[in-house]
Amino acid sequence: MTGDEDRACRRCRRPVIVNAAQYEVFERMHWSCFHYEFEHDGDPDAACEDPSCPARAFDPSPPPTWTQRLDG
Ligand SMILES: [Zn+2]
Ligand SMILES: [Zn+2]
Repeated sequence: MTGDEDRACRRCRRPVIVNAAQYEVFERMHWSCFHYEFEHDGDPDAACEDPSCPARAFDPSPPPTWTQRLDG
């Protein structure tokens, strides 16, 4: 009777579902929570240097290297 809801993020306490397989790897957090907790500096809404930073979604001018990487 154990479901995904047993894996609660210890940072935001919401269930970890998409990255449940990496639950332990990410210190029992969402990847995004792990990123903000350990890797991200400053305003959570301002993208940091990490190309996969969740805040990149709000970045009006993503770095050229980032789009080039997607193009392969
Ligand atoms: Zn979380
Ligand atoms: Zn970041």
